[in-house]
Amino acid sequence: MAPAETASGASAAQAANPRITAAPLPELSGEPGTRILIKGGVVMSVDDAVGNFSKGDVLIEGSKIVEVGAHIEASNAHVIDASGKIVMPGFIDTHHHQFETGLRSSLADAIVVNDGRPENSKNYYETMLLNFSQHYRPEDVYINELYGGLAQLDAGVTTVMDVSQIHHSADHSDAALEGLRDAGRRGVFGYFEGWWDGKEYPGGAKRIREQYFSSDDQLLSMVMGGEIYIEGYEDAWKIGRDLDLQIALHVVTTFGMTPTFDELAKKGVFGPDNIFIHMTGMTDDAWKAAADAGAHVSLSVPIEMHMRHGEPPIQKAIDLGMSVSLSSDVECTMSADFFTQMRGLITLQRMRANERALSGDENFPSLMKSYDAIRHATIEGAKGLRLDRKTGSLTPGKEADIILLDAEAINVAPLNNAPGAVVTLMDRTNVDTVMVAGKIRKWQGKLLGHDLDKLRRELEQSRDYIFEKAGVDRDLFS
Ligand SMILES: [Zn+2]
Repeated sequence: MAPAETASGASAAQAANPRITAAPLPELSGEPGTRILIKGGVVMSVDDAVGNFSKGDVLIEGSKIVEVGAHIEASNAHVIDASGKIVMPGFIDTHHHQFETGLRSSLADAIVVNDGRPENSKNYYETMLLNFSQHYRPEDVYINELYGGLAQLDAGVTTVMDVSQIHHSADHSDAALEGLRDAGRRGVFGYFEGWWDGKEYPGGAKRIREQYFSSDDQLLSMVMGGEIYIEGYEDAWKIGRDLDLQIALHVVTTFGMTPTFDELAKKGVFGPDNIFIHMTGMTDDAWKAAADAGAHVSLSVPIEMHMRHGEPPIQKAIDLGMSVSLSSDVECTMSADFFTQMRGLITLQRMRANERALSGDENFPSLMKSYDAIRHATIEGAKGLRLDRKTGSLTPGKEADIILLDAEAINVAPLNNAPGAVVTLMDRTNVDTVMVAGKIRKWQGKLLGHDLDKLRRELEQSRDYIFEKAGVDRDLFS
């Protein structure tokens, strides 16, 4: 049961918790002319030109940030009291397969491809892509996309690139788009492959671009998937580039991708429009070509370690000066929460560097700092998706994708270092308030605008259908 709401939008649970003030929800947030002043928070802008404020304010008008400073006077503004909160840009996930949400943790112990050992017969490629995903109807795509999007929004991830490898038909593509749109966050529609006869991919990119992406003034944008392990990828790259779309692809050593990637590097086809996901197991020459081309790297650190993609190439990408973002990848195997992503990134980078220091290597790399991890989780993702003029930092003129994190919670207080608290202490329970383009989507701990119980039941029904069609028993202890 959802807690009863009062007229102000505060719940009974909030009323019972004396630390949460039942302030009224600012009305018409995100609408033209509505002004909201976030007041007295610890403001971490992730923009060096704007700076950080141990006590600061952020003024929003309509969908945009208009001012960030130590003290802002604003008339006719709804005031959000941010004392005890860290105010920062929302997290940006540059690679998430949201269509798998209903299959969460079903492959918790899986590796990515079959290695011939009996214990790995239930692997990702065969179980997820060759079996489960083949049975999705458009309505399954929709509910998975929507629920996965809302779950990440609740955790402060305000932008996603959804890598939807579920384009079996035009109806599947439309359902993915509708699910992304209805979640109400900033989304990049990653148009990846489908598997059924008569599928629209890759040629359907033109229809989709014209139908859904004629305007730049919207929350959704589009990226073309161009997997080099799938026959005909050259067409997908050409179609994407003709439509002025970025080209994203998984780059992993499995399926013979290393020589193919080397060949492409030699041909000089990499560009600043490429988003390379994982980049595990690639040669130094290919890395250099990717860096020289200005390509972006998306790392899914916990997944890469867990599923045998290879060691996450954090140091390699940093040493080459590349733009690196973070991505959650698949919830069938790991949480899509960004505190998990940031902690995975920083602890692994430091472990490697610390080992070199301990072994007497004088040239061990600089240790990553918490603020660096936050940059990878925000502004670098925005750059990778070409959204940095809209989001990724608290910069006047950008859209207001902002999260308020509770720094007075029992797992965090007392606050002594803001980036450190976010990266080394917090989890999704600290995400108090979330706004996307100025519109408040989560308020004082509660996601707004959706009947989550109803959506969960729909997701469970879809999950039951897919398990049944796939002939997989849902054994909670298998
Ligand atoms: Zn992936």
